[in-house]
Amino acid sequence: MSVTVTALETRDIRFPTSRELDGSDAMNPDPDYSAAYVVLRTDGPHEGHGFAFTIGRGNDIQTAAIQALAPYVVGRDVTDLGDLYREMVYDSQLRWLGPEKGVMHMAISAVVNALWDLTAKIEGKPLWLLLGEMPPERIVDLVDFRYLTDALTPEEALEILRAAEPGRRKRIERLRTSGYPAYTTSPGWLGYDDDKLRRLCQEAVEQGFRQIKLKVGADLRDDVRRMRIAREVCGEGFRIAVDANQRWDVGPAIRWVNELAPFDPYWVEEPTSPDDALGHATVARAIAPIKVATGEHVANRVVFKQLLQVGALSVLQIDSARVGGVNENIAILLLAAKFGVPVCPHAGGVGLCEMVQHLSMFDYVAVSGTLRDRVIEYVDHLHEHFVDPVVIEDGAYRAPSSPGFSSTMLPESIARFSYPDGLAWRAS
Ligand SMILES: [Mg+2]
Repeated sequence: MSVTVTALETRDIRFPTSRELDGSDAMNPDPDYSAAYVVLRTDGPHEGHGFAFTIGRGNDIQTAAIQALAPYVVGRDVTDLGDLYREMVYDSQLRWLGPEKGVMHMAISAVVNALWDLTAKIEGKPLWLLLGEMPPERIVDLVDFRYLTDALTPEEALEILRAAEPGRRKRIERLRTSGYPAYTTSPGWLGYDDDKLRRLCQEAVEQGFRQIKLKVGADLRDDVRRMRIAREVCGEGFRIAVDANQRWDVGPAIRWVNELAPFDPYWVEEPTSPDDALGHATVARAIAPIKVATGEHVANRVVFKQLLQVGALSVLQIDSARVGGVNENIAILLLAAKFGVPVCPHAGGVGLCEMVQHLSMFDYVAVSGTLRDRVIEYVDHLHEHFVDPVVIEDGAYRAPSSPGFSSTMLPESIARFSYPDGLAWRAS
């Protein structure tokens, strides 16, 4: 049965999160979590919803970039996702704006994700399950192997997927009963005072999380003090990751992390520029056995390939709303599996937890086949604006059961937080 996209509509949605310093870190002190939101309307009963995540200013630019992709999808049958993804990525003129990075690539991500949301709704399954039950050959067809074959060939990808095939059913059942492990960043925002940090660390432990993360990188003395507090509250052996959000050059990164080493940080996230594969590798060698994690600002599969090839990563952090959306994230999950590096996604923002849980669950079911050293970031913000919000129980994401990609925002929230005319902004 064909389903045709009849319209692509965009909205600039912004949440005034900077008023509470939620989401504050060393590089982004005042984010207003935003979604450049896209709705694909069809001639059937379903709509596809997706978005690019931004932190405020520029969300209008991101929204315009999504609109520029309308000619690719309006009037198209949605059953041909693989080719449509490649067509958008290799547009002979839009490609100049990247290639495969930045605003235009994030716009492709939003549209690709909306198409997957639509497909999963049509199929009546949550996306993780739709992908997790897909034959290996079809999954390989979704991936663009251009620029990857020196590290991962289609044949190797197929081998990885086939090797994981026998246990799929058991892992699907495990997800349904126990969910997927999470860690929380909620205690660690840089703008929170020590009392709030202490209280939120305590709550994280009580809620069953086995890992937290602190933002670092603005002031070393503050970081040492905050790390000491977190370690006191959480106890020895509890995993405490730190996140510098690209604040440092390579040398300062190494020195700073060594100052924090007595408090046993589990991983150091984004120690330097996300484009600097060799810099990450230098940091990784110097601070081992402390792990290096990165990915939320890695532009595409090619940069991930290099980070893996030079041994820069112990933890790979995909982001559901960056790179080219679901298709390119599947390529990155396969690369990580090839190199044996665990994937612990970036989430938070607005709607990132909702979407990325599907990718991790798919990874567990059909790619890596393991939960070992894998956790999805969780941040307790803005979930109430979604039709199918994430559910966390005992420190784990419960497997979504509703059809789609969990990316649909409530109509009231879309209206209220539309920028600049929604009520939330008119009142300010
Ligand atoms: Mg981060």
